[in-house]
Amino acid sequence: MILYIISDQRSGSTLLENILSKSSKTIPVGELRLLYNYIKEVGVGNTERWKCSCGEKLVNCNFWSAVLNELNVTVSHFPQTKIKGNGIFIDLLKSKKSVCNKKYNQETLSFLGDLYTEIFKKSEKNIIIDSSKNPMQGICVYDKVKYPVKIIYLKRDLRAITYSKVKWKEKLRGENYGLFKMLTINKLRSFRRMRMLNFISPKDKVTIHYKDLATNTSKTLKKICNSLSLPYFDPPEYMYVHDDIHTIAGTPNKNKKRKIKYDDSWRRKMRGMPFFRLYSKILNIS
Ligand SMILES: [Zn+2]
Repeated sequence: MILYIISDQRSGSTLLENILSKSSKTIPVGELRLLYNYIKEVGVGNTERWKCSCGEKLVNCNFWSAVLNELNVTVSHFPQTKIKGNGIFIDLLKSKKSVCNKKYNQETLSFLGDLYTEIFKKSEKNIIIDSSKNPMQGICVYDKVKYPVKIIYLKRDLRAITYSKVKWKEKLRGENYGLFKMLTINKLRSFRRMRMLNFISPKDKVTIHYKDLATNTSKTLKKICNSLSLPYFDPPEYMYVHDDIHTIAGTPNKNKKRKIKYDDSWRRKMRGMPFFRLYSKILNIS
């Protein structure tokens, strides 16, 4: 089975993946759709120099090099791992078939299917956690790969996501986004996720909130397990990536061991921003 996480960035998906990785049945792989970037060493992933969570580049990592050797792919001929959309507005109007059946995307999905097969073989686990987060990719994987796919939709307050994205984009990439512009983009993205999630059967999806995950981890984990018919296990107290885990991308400080706790520092920052609070209300975000 593939457990596919859909969320915005900065929503706690690395935490969710880390909690789910503590089950004896799961193997987390991180944001698999960014594998192309990590192999080619281009774009997203440059802040960690495209390294696996074990500290090695993928060609030197025991796990990924074994998986990729089996697939006979080379760095110079590495297939794309991202599903191509048409931009948020058009995607909102289109049916899933028009996206999943595009020739380009069919090739990507075929490669992803082979990748999942090798990951199952190499890990000897029966649930892959794919934290790729992208709703378009999620519905195509759900529709087209030969394994059963369950979707976890992880939500977080859009104001928190906005604050966190603006902060991290400036810190890591020197990009300056205003809070208002970022909140508008995030609102549009949340519409897109909702629209895409309508394509998933209710028995194959569950929605959880980051706040519940961080403050009541055990109850939220039970909700996930009950909704998706997964075996329950005791959740960890700490977020910690073990040496034998090989995930790509995720939150930049994921390798630091720390107690699971709810991050609501954004609320204090926003107390002194009345116009931003008003704009959030206009967008119906509270
Ligand atoms: Zn590794």
